[in-house]
Amino acid sequence: MTHPGKALLPGFVNAHSHAFQRGLRGHVQWSKGEDTFWSWRDRMYRLANQLDADGIEAVSALAFLEMAEAGFTSVGEFHYLHHLPEGTAYGDREELAHRVVRAARRVGLRINLLRVAYQRAGPDKDRTREQRRFCDDRPEQVLDAIRRLRAAHQDDPAVSVGLAPHSVRAVPRAWLEAFSDFDGRIHAHVSEQPAENDQCRAEHGMSPTALFAEVGLLDERFTAVHMTFPQSGDAELMRERGSGVCACPTTELDLGDGFLPIDHLAGIPLSIGTDSHAQIDPFAEVRALELHARGLQGRRNVLSSEDPDGLANRLLDVGTVGGAAALGLDAGRMSVGQLADFVIIDLEHTLLAGSRPLPAIALAAHPGVVSETWVGGQPVCPDRGAIVDAAVRALADVDWGPK
Ligand SMILES: [Zn+2]
Repeated sequence: MTHPGKALLPGFVNAHSHAFQRGLRGHVQWSKGEDTFWSWRDRMYRLANQLDADGIEAVSALAFLEMAEAGFTSVGEFHYLHHLPEGTAYGDREELAHRVVRAARRVGLRINLLRVAYQRAGPDKDRTREQRRFCDDRPEQVLDAIRRLRAAHQDDPAVSVGLAPHSVRAVPRAWLEAFSDFDGRIHAHVSEQPAENDQCRAEHGMSPTALFAEVGLLDERFTAVHMTFPQSGDAELMRERGSGVCACPTTELDLGDGFLPIDHLAGIPLSIGTDSHAQIDPFAEVRALELHARGLQGRRNVLSSEDPDGLANRLLDVGTVGGAAALGLDAGRMSVGQLADFVIIDLEHTLLAGSRPLPAIALAAHPGVVSETWVGGQPVCPDRGAIVDAAVRALADVDWGPK
């Protein structure tokens, strides 16, 4: 069977997502005063505390639908909405996690639900009113939740469950130690902000990465999300222990976080995520790794090799093989024994006309070139109209605060 004008590529893996944050799009691009990651976070908390279970499922499904249309076949969902807004548990304690898993499976995506552990606002700072929805009181509650989630979804091979200590800001050292024997993938936000590094040094006398190493979490299971501000010695530690980094360049730019210093992190397995979903475009994420490096270093082809397709292969591998490794999936390559998760690219799309395909896909494409997405050997064909309508209804009544 031939498919003239089409290319088959491994499906992209979105290794870091907060699906409900898709609801923020277009609503937080204004500000009366100075706007930073921290003021953005206040607005994100407003949304997080206004969506009910139906709303969280609806907006999550919208994010997953957009991912599937953009060529993602799997998602690592860093899930931190656990309770009712006042902090009390749902009748089924895992209600919201089940809703998010269901949203991904309704669309047809594979999901690793990375169940977040969150205890406090920061060192010596109790959780705020807005954070009650995210928090547990003991680390055993987090591990129990993961056990229940795994049992509930054990019959669906497209669902796995991992652990996500939110950050060294939100999780105390004793909790990190309690997680050291965890059997699964472990993701955490690491060194996203200079303030986070400073607080960690004040509380623990070391960088966040060094702390994760000291408590026994920094090994092949571990993916550090962001690493926009790695500290001296962090990269060496990560290389030694075999841990990976997940960059989320379009979100990091949207939030004013900064750039991943990719030259500093050479030899560390990389993956990408769309995080806050300021945009959902795997091509934009992988391309940004190279373009930011060019901007910082003042030269072209920073991640390139002498092979004409070398740069493209390297960038696309970050979006596929790298993401699959971060989520513990046998995916990311078109080869025997791998999951049949792939995308069909329309080589006759105007933007690819006359081009060398792979470098053009990696450095110029957008989701419009994706004509089909397949997961587990099946085409993904969600009920687009119903998903969009439900999300629009859920977002219609959100109060975004004083303008
Ligand atoms: Zn995040």
